Amino acid sequence: MSQAGINKLCIIGVGLIGGSLARALRKAGFCQEIIGAGRSADSLGKAVSLGVIDRFETDLAKAVADADMIVLAMPVGATKSVLEAIKDTVKSNAILTDVGSTKASVVNDVKAVLGNACSRFVPGHPIAGTEKSGVEASFAELFKDRRVILTPLAETDNKNTDLVRAMWESTGAEVSEMSVEHHDDVLAATSHLPHLLAFSLVDTLAQMDEQTEIFKFAAGGFRDFTRIASSDPVMWHDICLANHDAIIKMLDRFTNDLGELKNALNSSDSKKILEIFKRAREARDRYTQSEQ
Ligand code: NAP
Repeated sequence: MSQAGINKLCIIGVGLIGGSLARALRKAGFCQEIIGAGRSADSLGKAVSLGVIDRFETDLAKAVADADMIVLAMPVGATKSVLEAIKDTVKSNAILTDVGSTKASVVNDVKAVLGNACSRFVPGHPIAGTEKSGVEASFAELFKDRRVILTPLAETDNKNTDLVRAMWESTGAEVSEMSVEHHDDVLAATSHLPHLLAFSLVDTLAQMDEQTEIFKFAAGGFRDFTRIASSDPVMWHDICLANHDAIIKMLDRFTNDLGELKNALNSSDSKKILEIFKRAREARDRYTQSEQ
């Protein structure tokens, strides 16, 4: 290992998140060499020509063979198959981490495939992203002043958590730690539910649009509310299935509250409608002020 961080880093999945991490770590001088890995030589070749990674392998077993740290940055649904592909060639002292938007499913897959090698696994999730995907959308500043959540396991060696923390801090991110369960509940509420609602609303309107061309008359509010429905469908399919229980719990709660609003509207209960809208605006103002 070098003093700056590590020597060889392998990123599996050089897309928006993996590519942005590679760019930020190169800028920070955190590692000597970055090896990209994935399914497509085309997109990995693009990552080399953009200067995001040093070299690539489409054979995952080969890609990780001499890496000191491996970052899983592909959709969470691919975790088990990727781990199966690399488990026999990962160095015995290599550290593994991930960037997945759900944590329990990833941890279960790691335990199922790696068993007692779990002390080397540090689950992570950068709370940063855009609705774009692919290495072309990556940029070095994506994690600057953004949060990264680590959810170390009881088995995770503290030294490994410290190194993964140092890696994220070198990108300009602020690192927090919490339990796997708390992470999945919090993210179901603040990220997974909003994405589900945006996809669902746009789908409903798209079906109406066939008859009414309503999108022609859509304004800024529609654009703001639905931006995240441009996110990658495969990634969000994987996240929804992986965090199914926590999302259903939030969806039930939201459906109940939406029902209350519908009842208030049905009965022209202006006091109730105003009460809900005012409470929501105050909560959002508090949130945006705390962001500044
Ligand atoms: P992305 O831009 O689509 O990149 C995903 C990368 O994974 C691509 O380079 C893809 O390349 C590769 N890949 C896909 N399936 C693979 C497989 N089976 N084996 C190996 N490589 C595979 O997606 P992203 O936004 O970077 O998301 C990556 C991860 O970050 C996900 O786990 C997501 O939950 C998490 N995350 C995303 C955001 C966000 O806002 N986007 C935020 C935080 C965390 P090929 O298709 O060429 O193989």
